[in-house]
Amino acid sequence: MAILKIAKLGHPILVKKTNEINNLNEVDLKKIVFDMSETMLDANGIGLAAPQVHLSHRMFLYRNPDIEEAVKINISVLINPLIENISNETEDDWEGCLSIPGMLGLVKRYKHIKYTALDLNGKQIVGEAEGLHARVIQHEFDHLNGILYISRLSHKKAFGYSEEIEKFWKKATNEKPK
Ligand code: ZN
Repeated sequence: MAILKIAKLGHPILVKKTNEINNLNEVDLKKIVFDMSETMLDANGIGLAAPQVHLSHRMFLYRNPDIEEAVKINISVLINPLIENISNETEDDWEGCLSIPGMLGLVKRYKHIKYTALDLNGKQIVGEAEGLHARVIQHEFDHLNGILYISRLSHKKAFGYSEEIEKFWKKATNEKPK
């Protein structure tokens, strides 16, 4: 296993649409997933999409906040995913990204989504997600289309260095930017 280099904001791969993986044997997916998992954990991330490690594949992995226990980390891999919102209900919350280290932005996401994808063995997975789980999937899915959260800010002022956001925004209870 190896820790991969993470592409940072400004690298063109982050704004490029990725390619579907047509033949799961064509790329060494298991190695990619192992390396991406190690990279994500090393960087303390909760999700990582292939373009963030300079690979133009439609796949990402994430730590599942719903089924994770303190002692056990549960990583899910979605290949060629499709997502759809179940309801039109949205919510604002703060997001960060390993490709934009040290920063946070307030982003509106659907609260409930469903997704279909292939797993590592090429088997179809269908699932539903809500809250943080749904947010992570939407964030990572955006990466596959070359979209970063900073182009989805709920308010253009709701973006900054995490320590300032913690100090001036998060502590201001649930007050939303005006
Ligand atoms: Zn990201």
